Amino acid sequence: MLRFTALDLVSSRKPVKTELPHRRISDYFGELTFNNTAQREFLTKEAYEQVINAIEKGNRISRTVADQIAASMKAWAITKGATHYSHWFHPLTGSTAEKHDAFINPVAGGRAVENFQGNELMQQEPDASSFPSGGIRNTFEARGYTAWDPTSPAFILDKTLCIPTIFVSYTGEALDFKTPLLKALNSIDKAAVDVCRYFNKDVNKVNATLGWEQEYFLLDKALYYARPDLLLTHRTVFGHASAKDQQLSDHYFGTIPARVMEFMKEFEFECHKLGIPVKTRHNEVAPSQFECAPVFEEANLAIDHNQLLMHVMKRIAGKHNFYVLLHEKPYAGVNGSGKHNNWSLETNTGINLLSPGKDSLSNLRFLTFLINILKAVHEYSDLIRSSIASASNDHRLGAHEAPPAIISVFIGTELTRALNELENQGANKIEDGKGLNLNIPKIPEILLDNTDRNRTSPFAFTGNKFEFRAAGSSSTCSKAMTPLNLIVANQLKLFKTEVDALIGEDFSKDDAILQVLRKYVKEARNILFEGNSYGDDWVAVAEKRGLSNIKSTPQALIKGMSHKVIDLYEREDILTKRELQARHEIKIKKYTMQIQIESRVIGDLATNHIIPVAIKYQNILIENVKGLKDVLDNKTFVKLSKNQLQSIKDISEHISEIKNGVIEMIQERKLANRITDSNEQAIYYNEKVFPYFNQIRSHVDKLEFMVEDSLWPLPKYREMLFIY
Ligand code: ADP
Ligand code: MG
Repeated sequence: MLRFTALDLVSSRKPVKTELPHRRISDYFGELTFNNTAQREFLTKEAYEQVINAIEKGNRISRTVADQIAASMKAWAITKGATHYSHWFHPLTGSTAEKHDAFINPVAGGRAVENFQGNELMQQEPDASSFPSGGIRNTFEARGYTAWDPTSPAFILDKTLCIPTIFVSYTGEALDFKTPLLKALNSIDKAAVDVCRYFNKDVNKVNATLGWEQEYFLLDKALYYARPDLLLTHRTVFGHASAKDQQLSDHYFGTIPARVMEFMKEFEFECHKLGIPVKTRHNEVAPSQFECAPVFEEANLAIDHNQLLMHVMKRIAGKHNFYVLLHEKPYAGVNGSGKHNNWSLETNTGINLLSPGKDSLSNLRFLTFLINILKAVHEYSDLIRSSIASASNDHRLGAHEAPPAIISVFIGTELTRALNELENQGANKIEDGKGLNLNIPKIPEILLDNTDRNRTSPFAFTGNKFEFRAAGSSSTCSKAMTPLNLIVANQLKLFKTEVDALIGEDFSKDDAILQVLRKYVKEARNILFEGNSYGDDWVAVAEKRGLSNIKSTPQALIKGMSHKVIDLYEREDILTKRELQARHEIKIKKYTMQIQIESRVIGDLATNHIIPVAIKYQNILIENVKGLKDVLDNKTFVKLSKNQLQSIKDISEHISEIKNGVIEMIQERKLANRITDSNEQAIYYNEKVFPYFNQIRSHVDKLEFMVEDSLWPLPKYREMLFIY
C-alpha cells in the first residue's frame, strides 16, 4: 500500500534543472553521428564514394574498403569518447536490440589497443535463440546475422558506437523489421521512378518520406512504481475517472508545465546531438499527454530516429522523476496516444509527388500518384488494418476518439470535386473514341494549406502528404510503412503495365494515363469518406459499401494473412510465405500473452489489493452501525442507519461480483490455454477472457468511489493525471 502526502508529492515534483550549453542547435546537431560531414573528414576518398554509392544506388561495399571504413569510424568514435561498439537492430519484439563489445585488443606487455575491423562493422553473429522467430530458426541453429545498413548513420549512445543493422537468420530469413522495410522502400523507389518517367525523364530515384508525430503521457515515476498494473502492462486496468480530466479542453496546446519543459529541453538536446530533427512540442488533449514531431526524413532514417527517440525519451524522463507511457491507452476515459505517420514520395530532383502542381503536366503527375494510392489502399485495406493491430491499439481504434477500425481515406472537398470531374469528363469523351483532349481538373492552391482537415479519418490527405493516423504510439513505424510502401509500389507497377498496353494500342500517353486513372477512381471510390468517421452512421454506410470493420487484433491479423497478401509479398520479394507465417505467429501469440498477462494482473490486484481493502472499510462501517445501535434509540437508529446499511450491502455486492468475475475469468483462461491452434487461442482470449476486464473493472471503480480515500491501495487518476 502506498499513499502520498501532499508534501511528498511537492518535493518529488520539483523541476530538475539541467545545465545545457549555451550553444546554437546548429552547433551540436548531429555531433554524435557519423554523418556526411564526419564521413568526409574521416573516410578516404575511395571509402567515402563507396558509402555514398551504397546509400544512393544500393551498391555493395568491398571488403577492403569496409576495413578502411571501420578504422575511420573507430577513430571518429574514439574522438567522441566511445569505448564500445554495438550492432543496433530492430528484432521482432518491436523495440531495439544491442550487444556491446569493447574496442579492445590485448597486446604484448599486458596492454591493450583499440581495435575495430571491417568484418566487425559489416557483419556479426549474435546468438539469436532468445529473439522471437516464429519457429523459423531451429533451436540448434541459434546463429543470427546482423549486417550493416549504411543508409542510416552510425551514432554514439552512452559511449557506445551503435551501428544500424538488419538481422537475419542463418538460413537468410528476416528476423527483424528493417529487412522487409528496406526491400519495400526499394520496390517503391523502382516503381515510382518508372511512373515518374512519364512526366520527368530526369528522375532516377524516389524516396518515401516520413514525418511521425509521437504522442505520449508523462507520469510521476513514484506513482508508476506504485501501480503494479502500469509496471506490468503499461496501462491502468482499474481507476475511477477523475471528476475533471479533459472536458474543459484546457490542456491541449496549453502552457507546458515547468517540470515537463525541463525534461523536454534535455531530451531534445540529446536528440539533436543524435541527428534526430525534433522540431515541434506541445501539450496534447488529455491531461499529462504530450506530443513531439520532427522534420520529415527519408523513411528508413525516420524510423530509426523514432526508435531511438523512444529510447532517449524514457532515459531522460527518468532523470526528471517521470516515467514515459507510450502505451496507446494508459488511462480509460481520456484520449489515447497515436503515432501519426505523415508519408509522401520525393524525387531526387526535389519534387514532392503528392504536391499538386501549377500546370496541367504536374497536376496529371499529382493525380496519378494520388489515385494510385487510393486504389492501393482500397485493394489492400485489410492489410493496412492489420498493420496497426495490437492488443494495446485495440483500445483506441473505434473508441470515439481515435480513428475507427474501418479503413477509409479522406481527400477533402476540392480533390473530391477534381476526381468527380475527371471521372465524368471521361465518360462523355471516351464515347467519341480515342484522342481526348487533355483536360485535367484544376486543383486550387488552397490545397497546399488544406484547411478542411478531417481529424477523424484514419488515412487523410493533408495538402502534400498522407497522414496515417491509426498507427499506435508504442509501435515501430515499420509496421505501417512496410505494407503501405509495398502496396503502392505494386499498384504503380500495375498502373504502368496498363498504361503501356494502351499506349501500345495507339493511345497518346496522356490519354492512356487518364483512361486508367478514371477506371481506378471508379473502382476505388468506396474507400473515400469525407464525413465524421467517429459517427455511428458511418459504420452502417461502410457496411453497405462492403468495407471491413475489423474490431479486434486477432481477426485483423488473420485477415492480413490472406492468399492475396501472401502473393503480394512474395511477388515483390519482400517476405516469403514462411517468413510471413512466422511473423503472424509472433504477433498472434504476443496478443494472447498480453491479454493473459493483463488478465492475471486484474485477478491479482482484485484479489489481494482491492477486496481486502473493501472488506476492511466495510468492517469499519459495520462497527460504526453497531455503535450507533448502542447509543441511539431504536427509531432514530432505523432512520439514520439506512444509508450506512445500504453501503455495507453495496460493498458486499461489488466484492461478490468481483470474486465471481475473477473465478469465471480464470476458468475461461484455463480453457483458452488448452487450445493448441494459436489463431483460435487468440480469438478465444479476445472473445471469452477479455470481456471480463471491463466487467470486473466497473465494480472495482465503484468501490474506489466508496472506500475511504486513505485506505485505497492504488494511486488514483486524479493523482496521476495532473503534472505541476
Ligand atoms: P499536424 O498539423 O498534423 O500536427 P504538421 O504540419 O505539424 O502536422 O506536420 C506533421 C509532420 O508531417 C511533421 O513531422 C512534418 O515534418 C511532416 N511532413 C511534412 N511534409 C511531409 C512530407 N512531404 N513527407 C512526409 N512528412 C511530411
Ligand atoms: Mg498530425
